Amino acid sequence: MKYVSTRGSAAALDFQGVTLAGLASDGGLYVPQSWPRFTEGEIADMAGLPYAELAVRVMAPFVAGSLSEEELRDLCTRAYGSFAHDAVTPLVQFDQQHWLLELFHGPTLAFKDVALQLLGRLFEHFLSRSDDHLTIVGATSGDTGSAAIDAVAGRERIDIFMLHPEGRVSDVQRRQMTTVLAPNVHNIAIDGSFDDAQAMVKHMFVDPEMTGKYRITAVNSINWARLMAQVVYYFAAALQLGVPQRKIAFSVPTGNFGDVFAGYVAAQMGLPIERLVVATNINDILHRALSSGDYSAGAVTPTAAPSMDIQVSSNFERLLFDAGGRDGPALAEQMRGFETNSAMQLTNAQRQGAAGLFTSARANAAEMELAMAWAAQHCGEIIDPHTAIGLHAARHAQIDPAVPVVTLATAHPAKFGDAVEKATGQHPELPARMGDLFDREERYDRLPGTYDAVRDFVAGNATQSA
Ligand SMILES: *Cc1c(COP(=O)(O)O)cnc(C)c1O
Repeated sequence: MKYVSTRGSAAALDFQGVTLAGLASDGGLYVPQSWPRFTEGEIADMAGLPYAELAVRVMAPFVAGSLSEEELRDLCTRAYGSFAHDAVTPLVQFDQQHWLLELFHGPTLAFKDVALQLLGRLFEHFLSRSDDHLTIVGATSGDTGSAAIDAVAGRERIDIFMLHPEGRVSDVQRRQMTTVLAPNVHNIAIDGSFDDAQAMVKHMFVDPEMTGKYRITAVNSINWARLMAQVVYYFAAALQLGVPQRKIAFSVPTGNFGDVFAGYVAAQMGLPIERLVVATNINDILHRALSSGDYSAGAVTPTAAPSMDIQVSSNFERLLFDAGGRDGPALAEQMRGFETNSAMQLTNAQRQGAAGLFTSARANAAEMELAMAWAAQHCGEIIDPHTAIGLHAARHAQIDPAVPVVTLATAHPAKFGDAVEKATGQHPELPARMGDLFDREERYDRLPGTYDAVRDFVAGNATQSA
């Protein structure tokens, strides 16, 4: 499988190349040259497979040429063996139409583990082939950071630098990152927002002074391998609920548009998806873009669902590329306009391409709390604030009652215990394996919100590439 950049001028790469590169050299994001497609019979044959084996079936076409089926199976078995639940992503019922897909049984209690436990092992596997060294630079609004750090802590050929907006992640989220004391882990608290931090990371990828010396890569969902791994649980849930004999819908708490784009990929591969509901909080650039074509970033407003407090959704570019006719040069120009003005209009082709599959909805704080209270009172389920935004959107999306709607549970409620208690009166406990989180030693550096400060810090602490 070959991958092309959404901005049309970077060279096409194979799976190993895009995994190690992260962002394309022209500033774009990699997507497969064409979508592999399963027949209805092939999808029916996947029913009942263990998760790791399903992962091999779904991902095999994407890694072709870079990994043998045996290598892929070994990596998946080890990655999904790190989960605390044998089903990996179990499905729970709310009512006759609504379901919950629990994606938080990995080591750091958010859905990001599903992809990052695999990505850490992919990095190690590919680096050992060339005896090279990798410098991971990432920005996190909370959950990516801990999941990435857990996935690479202590691995010899990797240094990780993780930026988080100081004071804007929850105590549990911060401690899950800063209490990992492995020498290859560098946590940096930035004086600024998540978008500021993400902009610095993107800048570093195109800074020749850095890319000339270090093999810098991303673990943000701009890395294709992450999206690929997330496609698997759309298949897992759909097969449980009777696909391909019926259609299915998903509601996805959305920030950077990575998770819901994986649903779009599943649909391109033949999974009969009726609707993908893009659920946002009051930071609603995606809701505005999908409902009116207006993609314009405002200031970020902090909410009780911090992993969705995002105004610029990197992966949206992948949808604009694919739905808009795959015109790299035109998209490059459109994105340059966005980078200058923080605003752009979607083209008619992009709007129509998205409208076939996507619906969007936005939830404010009161709606989020009501959804948490409904789940607790009517179904005995305690859900986290992000998941609650997804559930609110699912229940208001007016989906045909014959179509099951699966809300993705993106985080364990104990990661956001105070917000959950406020809405439900119940305080969710951390799983026993994390009971001592608040007793562990923390370590991190604070830096001003400037690119130069971050660049100098990374240059002073990273290992140069071979
Ligand atoms: C990262 C995250 C999201 C947003 O996912 P995207 O792929 O960025 O859209 C939603 N909920 C939680 C809990 C997250 O950690």
